[in-house]
Amino acid sequence: MVCKNCQERPVIKLTNSNIYLCKNCFIKYFEKKVKKTISDYKLIEKNDNIIIATSGGKDSTSLLYLLKKILKGRKDIKIIAIAIDEGIHNYRDKSLEFLKIFCQEHEVELKIFSYKEEFGKSLDEILKTYKGIPCSICGVLRRYLLNKKSKELKATKLATGHNLDDEAQSIVMNYFKNNIKISARLGPITGIKKDEKFIPRIKPLYFLTEKEVTAYAFLKGFMDKFNECPNSPYSYRGQIRDMLNDFEAKYPGTKHSIIMSFLELLPVLKENYRNNLHAINYCVSCSEPCSQKECKTCKYIKTVIKL
Ligand code: SF4
Ligand SMILES: [Zn+2]
Ligand SMILES: [Zn+2]
Repeated sequence: MVCKNCQERPVIKLTNSNIYLCKNCFIKYFEKKVKKTISDYKLIEKNDNIIIATSGGKDSTSLLYLLKKILKGRKDIKIIAIAIDEGIHNYRDKSLEFLKIFCQEHEVELKIFSYKEEFGKSLDEILKTYKGIPCSICGVLRRYLLNKKSKELKATKLATGHNLDDEAQSIVMNYFKNNIKISARLGPITGIKKDEKFIPRIKPLYFLTEKEVTAYAFLKGFMDKFNECPNSPYSYRGQIRDMLNDFEAKYPGTKHSIIMSFLELLPVLKENYRNNLHAINYCVSCSEPCSQKECKTCKYIKTVIKL
């Protein structure tokens, strides 16, 4: 087996094909695909102020590195990294240590916001009394802080490291839970209705699989081991991920098909919900955008965190 392009020793077989690539050709393939996604979906515009949601994991580290590289020389575009410290002992503390060094080495400004400072308790402390699924509360608090802090930093885009596997999981989860309206907010660039209180999210790694992002981070030498949050096996997403991995192994191309059929439907979904969407509400307690009178974060603060 040799690399399709240069006959060198291959390091990876591309998902959903019989193509083998060597290290250099794979890195070129990966970076070209990210640039194509940015250009095809107009993810980045002139004078953008891009906040990159980072965690010290393989996806957001690869994204940070690539946006910095791709946007080098663009004086009109600013990038800042932000990270949320949920307060997960032996996991987030370690990944943030790595991230601080990585950002220093790559000269990217990093701002860290923690649950402890913003809500009064770390996730580990919250979970001493909260008996629900950890990710359900953690995900709500995390999305809330990312949106709020991006606005405070006057971001025009919030870039996230979501890859093809993450998106396929979200699509299937929303189907299984009859949350199709939430799917209308997915895609390489999010948003149904323009609202200055919602920062559009962009996903430059959208068409790259988890396996490809892992290989890229490893081959670029960003990290040699990949830690997983200790709470993730309990999540609904974790079970969907296992199911899709199982299907992918039996029927290669499954995840790719989920994404491609979803992208065909997405314009119809967006149009439908744009027309049927009532005006966005603002939380009576914190003024953040939400679908009901009070946002989920404020409800959690009153009913779980302040206990
Ligand atoms: S896996 Fe769940 S608990 Fe862990 S950081 Fe992600 S959302 Fe939070
Ligand atoms: Zn090659
Ligand atoms: Zn609120």
